[in-house]
Amino acid sequence: MPNLDRFATGLPDPQDQPQQPIDECMLDSCQRPIYPGQIVWKHGCDTYCSLQHLAEDLGASQISAGE
Ligand SMILES: [Zn+2]
Repeated sequence: MPNLDRFATGLPDPQDQPQQPIDECMLDSCQRPIYPGQIVWKHGCDTYCSLQHLAEDLGASQISAGE
């Protein structure tokens, strides 16, 4: 009787693999992983998960005008 155990789980399905992050948000306080296909903001070679984090890292902050 041949050992068929190696067929029990089948071949690994690439769709089942969790996607590996390719980058992370450059904002130190965020560092959220960035996955392929995700919409991100680029500044030079830096990648940010949101426009707000890009602006924050550049030293910009959102305030209420006139205060
Ligand atoms: Zn971020």
